[in-house]
Amino acid sequence: MSVIYADLHIHSILSPCADRNMTPQNIYPRIVEKGINVFAICDHNSTKNVRAFYEFGQKWFPQILFLPGIEIETKEELHFLGIFPDLENAEKVGEIIRGGLKEEIKRAEFMEPQCIINSDGEIIGEETKSLYLSAEIDLEDAVVLLRRHNAVVIASHIDRPSYSITSQLGIIPDSLFDVLEISPISVRRVIEKKEFVLRNMVYPLPESIPIITSTDAHSIDEIGHVRTGIPINKLNFEGLKEGMKENTMLEVIGFD
Ligand SMILES: [Zn+2]
Ligand SMILES: [Zn+2]
Repeated sequence: MSVIYADLHIHSILSPCADRNMTPQNIYPRIVEKGINVFAICDHNSTKNVRAFYEFGQKWFPQILFLPGIEIETKEELHFLGIFPDLENAEKVGEIIRGGLKEEIKRAEFMEPQCIINSDGEIIGEETKSLYLSAEIDLEDAVVLLRRHNAVVIASHIDRPSYSITSQLGIIPDSLFDVLEISPISVRRVIEKKEFVLRNMVYPLPESIPIITSTDAHSIDEIGHVRTGIPINKLNFEGLKEGMKENTMLEVIGFD
C-alpha cells in the first residue's frame, strides 16, 4: 500500500467563473509540479470538457489518474460533486443535468464564455445554457442520479457560508454523501480540532464519512494549495474509493 495525493475539485475554462488558461496543457504540468497523482475536473453543471482532459492525459501524462467529474448546483442552491469511473457515465449525467438548465440569460459582467475545448486546448464550441444557475433537480434526485451512474458523491466546501450543505440545510446528513470536502481556508482548524466553525456554529465532523480537502481551483496558481493523502493499493477509481474509506490525510502545501 502506498499513499497518493488527490485534488478532486478543479474547474476548467468551461466554468464561466474560471480563468481562461484552465486547459489540460496548463493544468497537468501544475498537477505534476505539486506532487498530485489524481485529479478531477468538476465544472458547474457540465461534463463537456472531461473528454479533452482525459485524452490529453492519456497521451502526455499517463502516470496521472484523471477522473471525470461534475459540480452540480441543485434547486436548494447547494453544490456537490460527482466523481465518475469513466467518461461514459460522466457524459450521460452531464446530458441529463443539461436538460434541466435554464436557457442562457444575459451574462453577468464578471462571467467568461463557457468554452468547450478539444484535447489540444482549442475552443471548439460554447455552452449556451446557464451553467452558473441552479439545475432543475433537487438534492435527493441528483444524488440518486449520480449513484445510478456509479459516481462517488462528495459534498462541496461544507465549511463555506454559501452554496454548501451547511449553509443551505444547516446540518451534515450522514447518509447522503460518500465524502465531505473542506476548503483550504478551514483545513488547519479541521486538522487540529476535527471540527469547523461557521457563523458561530461548531460542526463536529461525522466519524463515519471520509473527509477530503480540494482546492476548488479556478486558476492555475490555486492548484497545489492543498491536497489529500490517501492510502491505496492500486491507482485507479476503485482503489481511490476504497482508500478514502481507510484514511485521508489533509495537507496544506503552501499558498503562492
Ligand atoms: Zn462550489
Ligand atoms: Zn467548485
